[in-house]
Amino acid sequence: MTAKTLSSLVCCGCSCLCDDIDAVLENKRVVEVGNACAWGAARFLGRKKFSASIPRARCGTYRRLNRQRRQVLQTQEAVAECREHLFHAQRVVVYGLGQMSMEALEGLLLGLRHSPTVWIPSDGPLLQAFVDLYRQQSPAFTTLECVRNHADFVLFWGANPLRSTPRLLSRYALFPRGRFTERGAEDRAAWTVDIQTTEMARVTNLVPIPQQAEEACVQALHEASLGRAAAFSKEIPAKDFKSLLKDLEKSRYRVFFFGRGPLFHGHGSAVLHALATWMKDLGATAPTFLLPLPADFNSVGFLHMFLSHGGLSNPLWHLQGDVHGWMPQPGDVLLAVSGDCFWFLTDEQKQAIRKLHIPVLAFSAYETMTTAEADVVIAVGLQGLDASGWAVRLDGVSLFAEKLWDQDLASDETVTEELFEPFS
Ligand code: SF4
Repeated sequence: MTAKTLSSLVCCGCSCLCDDIDAVLENKRVVEVGNACAWGAARFLGRKKFSASIPRARCGTYRRLNRQRRQVLQTQEAVAECREHLFHAQRVVVYGLGQMSMEALEGLLLGLRHSPTVWIPSDGPLLQAFVDLYRQQSPAFTTLECVRNHADFVLFWGANPLRSTPRLLSRYALFPRGRFTERGAEDRAAWTVDIQTTEMARVTNLVPIPQQAEEACVQALHEASLGRAAAFSKEIPAKDFKSLLKDLEKSRYRVFFFGRGPLFHGHGSAVLHALATWMKDLGATAPTFLLPLPADFNSVGFLHMFLSHGGLSNPLWHLQGDVHGWMPQPGDVLLAVSGDCFWFLTDEQKQAIRKLHIPVLAFSAYETMTTAEADVVIAVGLQGLDASGWAVRLDGVSLFAEKLWDQDLASDETVTEELFEPFS
């Protein structure tokens, strides 16, 4: 058996989309991975994300659930069954989306352009907050390469990249040496502001603030940074308040990362707006940028695709940030695309799905709680391993993840194409 070594592979483990991964392949299996974090390595090696010694169960069949019994289907049968459900749907509810290729997303958006559809991305709260922000302001974007080369001030607001994008700090935002940050972390002031103490305290200055005072803290920092308020915010220790502002004043290139933390509470969107307003004023003294920190590898790609396909102007469509806001109703069809919807639904929502006989269709690479419940399951290949496709990194840069082998499993792009072919 001959081993093959590949380099510069793209990892679709999170929205960092690292493109420097090395892998050794043997007999259509990855047996060794280089440069990846533990999550990325687990994805390439077919292991569980949080228990790297346990294999992750792949979804390998096309099947229907018939009176609690699983019945294996041919590909065409499974696709035709999904098509039939979608054709009769009064409303399609699509969940997931952040782990699909750009090609598949385009097929899905085009296929459902004339159907009443609720779009619920798995990174929904973050994406919806940014959509709300873009309606009023357009904060400047930068690339992660520019962050590495230039940023001498990084701030993580309600964000913990160690839990969402593990290599962000080592590859771009904190430790690496860049063109104008030659001493790496020594050349960067790094701050985290959060309502809880996280592991970020080990690598950045961490300022814990009360949940109800997040927006007031942004405003206090904003005012003070413009020299408009002499008083410190009572919610932030005076020493931290002064040091953060001092670092900000000294800096020549600033990047703010906004995470999902504030969005677990009602005021998250207001915090993001306050940050963007502050950044606009900061931009007068030095380049200042705001980047979202989603978890799924193509969440930003979904957002680009949704906006460029008239997602906000289509009267039949609705972008739903929080899956808990979906009220199941008769005539709904739930389409879970590469996301474990049932993991996040409330008991009431699950009961309503059963009571109203809402068909559940799942396109999935893994066995999940959703595939266990779904009426029809279609197995799809994993992007960057079984299937190729484009994705968009968290900073808006497009990357192509090439497949490593030829598999029998269809890509999500192929399944989407077949699904809507008769309608086009
Ligand atoms: S940081 Fe994300 S993209 Fe990079 S290796 Fe880890 S999981 Fe993969």
